[in-house]
Amino acid sequence: MTYDPRSAVLFAALDAAAHGWHVFPLRPGTKRPALHGEATCPRTDECAGGHRKWEQRATTDPGRIRAAWSQAPFNVGIATGPSQLVVIDLDTPEHKGGSDAPDGAATFEALCERAGHAVPDTYRTRTPSGGTHLYFTAPDAARLTSTAGTVADSVDTRAVGGYVVAAGSMLPTGTYEALNSIPAIVLPTWLHAVLQPAPTAPSKPLRLPAVDGSRAALAALEAECAVVAASPDGLRNVTLNRCAFKVGRFVAWGDLPRQVAEDAFQGAGEARGLTAAECRATIRSALDSSLRKARPREAA
Ligand SMILES: [Zn+2]
Repeated sequence: MTYDPRSAVLFAALDAAAHGWHVFPLRPGTKRPALHGEATCPRTDECAGGHRKWEQRATTDPGRIRAAWSQAPFNVGIATGPSQLVVIDLDTPEHKGGSDAPDGAATFEALCERAGHAVPDTYRTRTPSGGTHLYFTAPDAARLTSTAGTVADSVDTRAVGGYVVAAGSMLPTGTYEALNSIPAIVLPTWLHAVLQPAPTAPSKPLRLPAVDGSRAALAALEAECAVVAASPDGLRNVTLNRCAFKVGRFVAWGDLPRQVAEDAFQGAGEARGLTAAECRATIRSALDSSLRKARPREAA
């Protein structure tokens, strides 16, 4: 019997469908849908009554899956909306093109910890770029739309309107792999709250509260918050991270209460348009890292 690459991805498609997840074909070796777009719709067959995009055509029907995958070794897309899934996509800094960018897994762990919980144990996959996908089922009451960067850098969600690449799919750089065989759990309420994009805070002038702290520490805090407030669009989070890190040594030396630094940076970051959740995660991680690395004052 000769190896047929179609059988590997067909198995992946049938396996996903057996979980109740709605699948559709992606172009072989890629993450792009294989189905035609609206602009090139022939208005025949499935589209006879009007164009139907991949989200509507995704199926759990083994017969339709076998027929589609007999044509080519398609990768497997899971349409998260009809599958009632929320998938959390944790990316790696290397993939986002900057070693300064926060690691999605670390940021997500910080968000969970902040909410008082451990990262939930659920079905997860690893992507060829080293990212992780955490699968959750989404009861109707907890439906979320897909997000990109609004929860935090490198932490995205795929839900209604989105899709993920299923385990077993292959890119030139590697294979999507299931990291366990446990079922996807129901999205916890607390996590649903964490994933809500924060409302955009109105821009307001930055004013530091009259608080304790040495004069040098407060001056540094004020200067670094001003840098955050003036950061360029693509570098807001990176700037917040760097500035909070710099001020962290004053916290380590006891010159500045941590809460004062956190509140000031939170205000500056939100005023610059970052979400509250992004600010919290970045500031926390920057200060933690700074406190770990701070040298004694005389050696600084
Ligand atoms: Zn069509």
